[in-house]
Amino acid sequence: MRMSSSETVLAGLESELGWLQEIYTRLHRHPELSFEEHETSKIVEEKLTAFGYSVTRIGGTGVVGVLANGVGPAVLARADMDALPVTEATGLSYASAVNGIMHACGHDLHVSALLGAAKLMADGRGAWSGTYITLFQPAEEVGAGSQAMIDDGLVTKVPRPDVAFAQHVMPIPAGTVATTIGPVLSAGDSLKITVYGKGAHGSMPHMSVDPVVLAASIVLRLQSIVSRETKPGDFAVVTVGALNAGATSNIIPDRATLLLNIRTYDAGIRAGVLAAVERIVKGECSAAGSPREPEFEYYDQFPLTSNDAAVTERVRTAFTARFGAEAVRTAERQTASEDFSRIPDAFDVPYTFWLLGGADPDAYRAAASKGTVARDIPANHSPSFAPVIDPTLSMGVQAHVVAALSYLSREG
Ligand SMILES: [Zn+2]
Ligand SMILES: [Zn+2]
Repeated sequence: MRMSSSETVLAGLESELGWLQEIYTRLHRHPELSFEEHETSKIVEEKLTAFGYSVTRIGGTGVVGVLANGVGPAVLARADMDALPVTEATGLSYASAVNGIMHACGHDLHVSALLGAAKLMADGRGAWSGTYITLFQPAEEVGAGSQAMIDDGLVTKVPRPDVAFAQHVMPIPAGTVATTIGPVLSAGDSLKITVYGKGAHGSMPHMSVDPVVLAASIVLRLQSIVSRETKPGDFAVVTVGALNAGATSNIIPDRATLLLNIRTYDAGIRAGVLAAVERIVKGECSAAGSPREPEFEYYDQFPLTSNDAAVTERVRTAFTARFGAEAVRTAERQTASEDFSRIPDAFDVPYTFWLLGGADPDAYRAAASKGTVARDIPANHSPSFAPVIDPTLSMGVQAHVVAALSYLSREG
């Protein structure tokens, strides 16, 4: 019987897992913050060069490796590289050796898995035809790394792909992948609002415009955006994560600041929510007799991640052929956000983003039977987040290879 392209390319997987695990534990032990992925990108460059890729630095610590292998489509696969300002509490033998920094979102696993796929695709180049582009992105956690690569000329420095892929390790059972068509991650907007009052002695409120009362009233009124202005069933989150004003009991301050986080799955709903926030803040300022216009400063903005139907269907079919139907789940929409989609959007090409299971399957099953998954399985950004290496790493490599070959296979 003839082997399929992915069987041929993945035949060498077992013998690669040793060094891949070493890379993974090394990256985990030495996490680097956003835009400071200097050692990580050096490792990536060395490996890609050794595998025969032509390697380009883009956006500071960003690295792209291109393997041109004859006529055919071009596929781009992306991994993010940065860690978080979190103090690790996993107790793992390969826990972070850097105080206060941890790979708490699994980007070390994304890097290792894509390096594994890059090696297998290079070794197995006889089984496929086209161009394989591996992209290692800085600073996903601050929503700025993909944009930094685009601003540094990504679309002119790299061949235009026909399709783009990314994956993210999540607290779903290891050994599974999950995909869905349409929105899979929300758009995220952070917003700093400054409102102005008039300061006075705490004993003379009549001399003031009190920004504390103003800000409190804004917080309450903002809650009506989701409950009263958003259609039931439509998704939006409006969170006031910080509210700061004043410093002592007997002084009425002259300003208050609010930090908001907003999540949506739809451009129209997003525009409506942002407009409502500004309208309410301006209205409350006017009601309070605020002496100055409020200020709005947007930051940490993440685009919507919405999977293309045809690409997702094609990749899902390939996953099912490789992993079996049991291991390929339908992804629940996540309220988290990602900046990956800016890359395919910059090239104007379709993409799919899948979730990679990282939770110990036994622990997951036990928690699921008690209905305590959300409490018992440490999620991304938790100091206890700890994907099981086996089979997560192997699945991550396979998923990238299988997805790529669903476009690049010689069998078509
Ligand atoms: Zn994260
Ligand atoms: Zn992440």
